[in-house]
Amino acid sequence: MSVPFRVQPALDDENRFFWLSGEDGCLRFARCGDCGEWLHPPLPRCPACGGRDINPEAVSGRGQVWSYTVNHHSWDGSTEPYTIGLVELDEQQGLRLTTNLVGCAPDEVHIGMRVRVTFEQQGIVWFPLFEPDPDVTDPEGGS
Ligand SMILES: [Zn+2]
Repeated sequence: MSVPFRVQPALDDENRFFWLSGEDGCLRFARCGDCGEWLHPPLPRCPACGGRDINPEAVSGRGQVWSYTVNHHSWDGSTEPYTIGLVELDEQQGLRLTTNLVGCAPDEVHIGMRVRVTFEQQGIVWFPLFEPDPDVTDPEGGS
């Protein structure tokens, strides 16, 4: 069983919640309590209103592929190509997360594909990855 190499994030007081959030199966982003703006990466002040009432809040974990790239370079010793995606969460336009797309072949990935979060634990960190949303039937799929 091979676990793909992932770059361990540097945890700090502002992003710690994000990387540990998957422990209970929920993806969380920092959100401004004053205006409701979602912030990623987390910031001490809200860029929209300047508010400082910033707290982690759970999101649905659903979104769509905004852009992606397939990496064929075997820099981690594995030979499988993998897909790096930029996923935009449903909660807010522009709330995007760089992640790995799993659970489907790289050539099945397309812009606008519906995805949902899944987590992979390595050490204390829970990496948020995205897989095809099983509750969505893709009209362009099939043949
Ligand atoms: Zn705000």
